Amino acid sequence: MARIRVGVNGFGTIGKRVAEAVRLQPDMELVGVVKTRPDYGAIYAARNGIKLYTLRENINKFREKGIEVAGTLEDLLGSIDVIVDATPGGVGASYKPVYEKAGVKMIFQGGEKADVAEVSFSTLCNYEQALGKRSIRVVSCNTTALLRSICTLNRVARVKSVRATIVRRAADPKEIKRGPVNAIVPNPAKLPSHHGPDVQTVLPWLDIVTSAVVVPTTLMHVHIVYARLGTSITLNDVLNAFENAPRIILVSSDLGLKSTADLVEYMRDIGRKRYDMPELAIWLESITVRGDEVMWMQAVHQESIVVPENIDAIRALTEAAKTPEESIKLTDETLGLLRGRIP
Ligand code: NAD
Repeated sequence: MARIRVGVNGFGTIGKRVAEAVRLQPDMELVGVVKTRPDYGAIYAARNGIKLYTLRENINKFREKGIEVAGTLEDLLGSIDVIVDATPGGVGASYKPVYEKAGVKMIFQGGEKADVAEVSFSTLCNYEQALGKRSIRVVSCNTTALLRSICTLNRVARVKSVRATIVRRAADPKEIKRGPVNAIVPNPAKLPSHHGPDVQTVLPWLDIVTSAVVVPTTLMHVHIVYARLGTSITLNDVLNAFENAPRIILVSSDLGLKSTADLVEYMRDIGRKRYDMPELAIWLESITVRGDEVMWMQAVHQESIVVPENIDAIRALTEAAKTPEESIKLTDETLGLLRGRIP
């Protein structure tokens, strides 16, 4: 079967990770990526054999710096089946007419409004709804994380309501303009935060209320989650559900994984490129059950958690995998994702 031809527009935090993940898929081919600036990222891509495309008006800027470009965005769109838009939040929507004109299928990221695409997407929650669609929005890092644990729990007992507090990293490590300040900032002060409604773009039936604060760190987000279920449940039921779910790791404070810094250190120890942790980490000791109430704390590596979902979204759009399980198996094996208790 012919491989799915994929292009990525935007080669920043998310774009470079998705592009590299596409290259690892046996059923996909990365045709090229679009860069607007002829910077170190462009040189990195070129040196690693990734074909560069740019906007028509920027071609000379690349040539002046001696960086070879294969063509324009339109040239790339003419030779692919799926475009993954990984441009800054809000910019993706402005490209939609260009993608539509080229007749390619489209994936947008969580920084876009939900109406940019036909379906907001989380593999563990609504893969089937995205099958054969023209456009998908992979929800944000925080929403992806909440959906992974909520939909996993929902398989064991119906989740009736969720209340979650999101402790957000101030910026990604490379973002020098948004650097952490020495403060804790309500985000926003007016409750609730936008994360609950974002979860509802995938699970419209869920009663969910969220709040968020920004803290001075760049490593990860942490969520404190309370869920009320339709029935009582045991701690063992919850542990089994999280332990056997794909893309969730149970980490133990007892074994020294006490903080996001320890998680980063462990990801470095096991040789993860850029210390990426696309798995959702749930602290084992935090999982608490009281009748129909379940509580837990989870850590989210914002730079990489949405990468597996982007890969699955490509298969859903093209119907290359008819079930989430089929896509998860391929994605998780090729990306070397862990599950269960670690280390
Ligand atoms: P980024 O700023 O790291 O990367 C964006 C890339 O797009 C950069 O390479 C930039 O040069 C390029 N770009 C800028 N303007 C462009 C244009 N007009 N056309 C083409 N390329 C352009 O951003 P990011 O963090 O990768 O975010 C991309 C999307 O992913 C956003 O919707 C964001 O909300 C979402 N997202 C980000 C994170 C995160 O934590 N970084 C997590 C999940 C989802």
